[in-house]
Amino acid sequence: MDDPRVLEEIRDGVAAICRDFPGRYWQERDAAREYPEDFVNALTASGYLAALVPEEYGGSGLSLTAAAVILEEIHRNGCNAAACHAQMYTMGTVLRHGSDGQKQAYLPGIADGSLRLQAFGVTEPTSGTDTLSLRTTARRDGDDYIVNGQKIWTSRAEYSDLMLLLARTTPRDQVEMRTDGLSVFLLNMKDFIGKGMTIRPIRTMINHSTTEVFFDELRIPASSLIGVEGKGFRYILSGMNAERILIAAECIGDAKWFIEKATTYVNERVVFGNPIGRNQGIQFPIAKAYAHMLAAEAIVQRAAATYDRGEDPGGEANIAKMLAADASWQTGEACLQSFGGFGFAEEYDVERKWRETRLYQVAPISTNLILSYIAEHILKMPKSY
Ligand SMILES: Cc1cc2nc3c(=O)[nH]c(=O)nc-3n(C[C@H](O)[C@H](O)[C@H](O)COP(=O)(O)OP(=O)(O)OC[C@H]3O[C@@H](n4cnc5c(N)ncnc54)[C@H](O)[C@@H]3O)c2cc1C
Repeated sequence: MDDPRVLEEIRDGVAAICRDFPGRYWQERDAAREYPEDFVNALTASGYLAALVPEEYGGSGLSLTAAAVILEEIHRNGCNAAACHAQMYTMGTVLRHGSDGQKQAYLPGIADGSLRLQAFGVTEPTSGTDTLSLRTTARRDGDDYIVNGQKIWTSRAEYSDLMLLLARTTPRDQVEMRTDGLSVFLLNMKDFIGKGMTIRPIRTMINHSTTEVFFDELRIPASSLIGVEGKGFRYILSGMNAERILIAAECIGDAKWFIEKATTYVNERVVFGNPIGRNQGIQFPIAKAYAHMLAAEAIVQRAAATYDRGEDPGGEANIAKMLAADASWQTGEACLQSFGGFGFAEEYDVERKWRETRLYQVAPISTNLILSYIAEHILKMPKSY
């Protein structure tokens, strides 16, 4: 269990960094769709992005609970961790299943900031959420694998050195268990761009540096394989639990930012001779959203603690992600509505945060798929797909 004083120190440290990156900084990056390089560099230099790298490799060896606190605090301060959070949620796959050689080769560089592990290539245009149907293949050829296919929504690929890639190594009709046949690779992308790997940015409603990545007869060394060939889906699933918990923490941070922003504004904004916050029609949506945020926060903390104890956090991670994403969206709606027309002006940051937090209803896993998980795996209802 984490010492609450240490978590409080982490909050203070992260908040101090965020003070150097006020709304104006994010507004400018957002308008230009620019990667927040200075922010990521500052977080790297502080060591916070290496929170989950064990001390023996130069990191701080902190728990997932501590990592969640770091990401929550970034969002609570109006910043956005999406430019660099992947390093935290992909770390588990490398730590749990990577070889000693892979850890020696990459973890010290990730810890000192000379290497970024920020790209996670799972989603494909045709398979979507149905990961087991993905079509990117990696075929063994001597000491290499040859990769062919396409990923979509591979965020930060242009600003990352390393990519964790999921590809099919055994055709679907030749595996015993439906979850077999997929493998995970850790690629140093800089070696491959222009040599069978092409990255194409996708412009979206938020500043997220997301891309399509194409593989055309890309030759990668067999030493890129993480763990055992064909078992990659399981490795990725355990990483996805960490991802859901960490994204949920970001949602809690967003929710706290929206609540603070909204309450400050409604106490100050005077219409019809009174602060608008005196009206219950303004108070209640904010109060309700606050209550939902507090409940979601408890589940997020519980899920992180389950993960840290080494137990299966599947149910809690999914529920935490759904409730936290709902809470951040609800608080965002209440905040935007309370700001009236000013909510739409870029200078207040409300519209930007509102757009950014909307993503979490869809990614990294959409609400429908979480409900389906709860129905099937927890409540034991029939499988629907
Ligand atoms: C900005 C952004 C960044 C992203 N970053 C990454 C990244 O770095 N790496 C990565 O691998 N992926 C990334 N993703 C992909 C993200 O994880 C997917 O978009 C998400 O998992 C949903 O998949 P999809 O878009 O293919 O939707 P689909 O699977 O096509 O689903 C579309 C809709 O149908 C619903 N649906 C589908 N099947 C069912 C069903 N059986 N029952 C009920 N409803 C269903 C879904 O809930 C969803 O609302 C990113 C996406 C975005 C938008």
